[in-house]
Amino acid sequence: MTMAPQDLIRPDKDTFLGEENPFEAMMSRFDYAAQKLSLDPGLYKVLRSPEKQIIVSIPIVRDSGEVEVFTGYRVLYNTSRGPAKGGIRFDTNVTLDEVKALAAWMTWKCAVVNIPFGGSKGGVICDPFQLSNGELERITRRYTAAIFEILGPDSDVPAPDVNTNERVMAWIMDTYSMHKRHTVTAVVTGKPVEMGGSLGRREATGRGCMLVTREALKRLRMPIEGTRVAVQGFGNVGSVTAQLMEQLGLKIVAVSDKSGGLYNPDGLRIRELIQHVRQKRFLADYKEADHIGRDEILTLDCDVLVPAALENVITSKNANDIKAKIICEGANGPTTANADKILEQKGVFVIPDILANAGGVTVSYFEWVQDRGGFFWDEPTVNQRLERIMVESFDDVAGMAGRHGINLRIGAYMLAIERVAAVHRLRGMYA
Ligand code: NAD
Repeated sequence: MTMAPQDLIRPDKDTFLGEENPFEAMMSRFDYAAQKLSLDPGLYKVLRSPEKQIIVSIPIVRDSGEVEVFTGYRVLYNTSRGPAKGGIRFDTNVTLDEVKALAAWMTWKCAVVNIPFGGSKGGVICDPFQLSNGELERITRRYTAAIFEILGPDSDVPAPDVNTNERVMAWIMDTYSMHKRHTVTAVVTGKPVEMGGSLGRREATGRGCMLVTREALKRLRMPIEGTRVAVQGFGNVGSVTAQLMEQLGLKIVAVSDKSGGLYNPDGLRIRELIQHVRQKRFLADYKEADHIGRDEILTLDCDVLVPAALENVITSKNANDIKAKIICEGANGPTTANADKILEQKGVFVIPDILANAGGVTVSYFEWVQDRGGFFWDEPTVNQRLERIMVESFDDVAGMAGRHGINLRIGAYMLAIERVAAVHRLRGMYA
């Protein structure tokens, strides 16, 4: 007798912490999409379980001479479609549940844009703002050495995420290469261009956000010129999204970062703000705009909202107050499952994270291809190929959503689960 996925008992269900638990947020959408697909119970069990979860201790000598031990994680969620792919974040809030959820999202994201990767994620619990450059390098190298066996161009390929960057990727690549006794550029993506990085990678996530927002505006028959945008987070994703949207003709009326928010109903000057943050790090002391509270940005009167900072910022507590007509999820997991329901009732068009921010992993894939081929593309080629994939993926997701009468998020999950499940069926079960 077969059971429908909704009848299966999830053994870890009771340990979930509710709305803001990231793994629960992922799983509740997964369950709904699996049910809509009538996914067979065996595959349901396989796809809801991470393949491998690694916890490592990372001892380093601090600049003071003291020894400190940090905790690091790496989770490989699913590798049926190809090597695992996923960023590494350095943050005090990193948890195993968060890393598991992010690894699952990477699996679905790679499948949504149809690139031959599985999904993984990693994190180290630390506050990079309290660490010197030397301490960060020692953490990065020791973490790399600790997970050395699972890394590799054919097995698991990290990339930057929150508080990690090209510099960190260069250290990982060097550490891995020293252990391997030869240079292996394709072991990480998001590297500096001088050492095998791809042109266009740094801007890719923001470019993807801009492209899918453009497609959404077209679909909703909304104009580009003058459409008002608010962007939460002014790091890699937020600042590039704001800049490219401004270039497209949209009006960026508000941006925010950890230090606070800025508002100008006539449009902010994004290039100037990027310069400011480069010099002063935070937006807070910028003088040419009104200052607003850090969280006020989410409920501001605007047409497009781009959460590009953290998880769980749109919840059942504030979803009712959202005024934007389109939400483009630059961050991973910015909206809780409970908030999804409220936004849907309000008719907000949500471009889900696993589609909206997939530009980054798409150009990571290009970087991996270029490293392995030893032949590098010019920037227009990278951008053109990215645009083709983002537009096609938007259409695929919108098509799935339209056929099933569901929102884009569940459409994206269904498309992804269907693609991953198809490979599992073809490969069969090795026992
Ligand atoms: P980043 O570290 O470069 O920037 C994060 C930004 O968020 C900073 O400006 C920070 O000040 C701001 N921030 C932190 N807390 C905030 C708060 N409470 N309110 C407002 N702003 C706040 O990180 P990033 O690479 O831009 O990543 C941002 C998000 O995008 C993350 O969820 C990440 O997982 C996701 N993402 C990143 C990429 C990528 O290529 N970098 C790809 C896909 C998804």
